[in-house]
Amino acid sequence: MSMIHGMVVRISLLWLVLCIEGSLVVGDEPGNEVSVNDSGSQYSQATSQKHSGHKWERRTMTLENSLARYSFLYSACVDPSHPNDRAFDEGYFGMPGPSSCNWYHGGFLVLNLNGKDVGTVPLADMRVIETGTRGSFQMVWDHPDAMVRLKMMLPPAANHVIADLSWNPKPSGTVATVTLRLVCYPSYFTAWNHRQGDRHCATPRLDKHEPETLELVPGQDTYLYYYDTIFDVAKGEGDGPCAMMFSSESVRGGRVQIGNYAVFTDLELRPESRHVRLAFWDFNGKKNAEGEAYLKAHGKEDQTMLAKTDFRPEAVAKLDVARLRAEATKCLAEAGDEGKAYQPKVEGMLGRMTELKTGADQGDWKSEADLATLVEEYTVVFWKVKILALLNG
Ligand SMILES: [Zn+2]
Repeated sequence: MSMIHGMVVRISLLWLVLCIEGSLVVGDEPGNEVSVNDSGSQYSQATSQKHSGHKWERRTMTLENSLARYSFLYSACVDPSHPNDRAFDEGYFGMPGPSSCNWYHGGFLVLNLNGKDVGTVPLADMRVIETGTRGSFQMVWDHPDAMVRLKMMLPPAANHVIADLSWNPKPSGTVATVTLRLVCYPSYFTAWNHRQGDRHCATPRLDKHEPETLELVPGQDTYLYYYDTIFDVAKGEGDGPCAMMFSSESVRGGRVQIGNYAVFTDLELRPESRHVRLAFWDFNGKKNAEGEAYLKAHGKEDQTMLAKTDFRPEAVAKLDVARLRAEATKCLAEAGDEGKAYQPKVEGMLGRMTELKTGADQGDWKSEADLATLVEEYTVVFWKVKILALLNG
């Protein structure tokens, strides 16, 4: 083979490999991708009375697929003058989008363990753990009695977000009570705008309206649908209804207080279940009838999907280190002298993967998240070796 011909073959081969790599890294058709945008921590001076002038943190995570775009806001006073305690206004975990009403932007989720709000504890972690086929992020709190982890996920073709909220008791601690409050303002901020609506909460079992309280029957109230008959998009008013569901085996009981402004859903969780699964809909821009029809038609299948979803990042759940090692050994041998430079790095990464997998399998949140990142980094290095193997083989 002439030298020029040889070079052309090498370049064509390289091009082919880069195309294959590109498609593998991207994974799916562009339209099916789920993206997660992390704003990073943003700091400002607090203006709230008790914490005026303090350092305030805000961080937004936005999950988006072809059907929906949900954003979540962590917001708390992180001033060094009270290093072990976090303070907040109305809440610390809000859902500013798609609507600022519905699941409340100023805080829609409040978790108490043994009577202590996890929001008062510094965040141990907040990071994106998966993008591509699915999108998810996690938040971790080092509560005195348990490690608490919240994973929020947007599946590829879903109009709602799903969550896994877990509490792993510490060897020194016991978890005797777990309560969860969820706050929504269905469709419209009525009182703020000096308007009177008619809030409802409906389940497959019954429908109640303000100012009633709905006592929940887990297992029968398989979805909760929140709407306002005055503020209905069909009448040209409001942003549309919202909904939620929970895994009934983790819930002992609960109630929905249907106020004329906020609607509070309080769930008493079973401490021994160690986690609860949740799903949230914001039917932004939809008529009440559309939200209701969706839940009646798809509530059951969405409940099934919620129960069977593996919330571990797919890179972790599908990881087979032995297979990766066999592939790497073969490619390194084929890559010859040029591959040798990569050998220590590849072996180091595979070794670290095995260690992290052990931790992840035991439920350690940090090992699991670090492993997901490492698998991504490894893929890039492996493809460099693979290219060398093809060029030298
Ligand atoms: Zn403060």
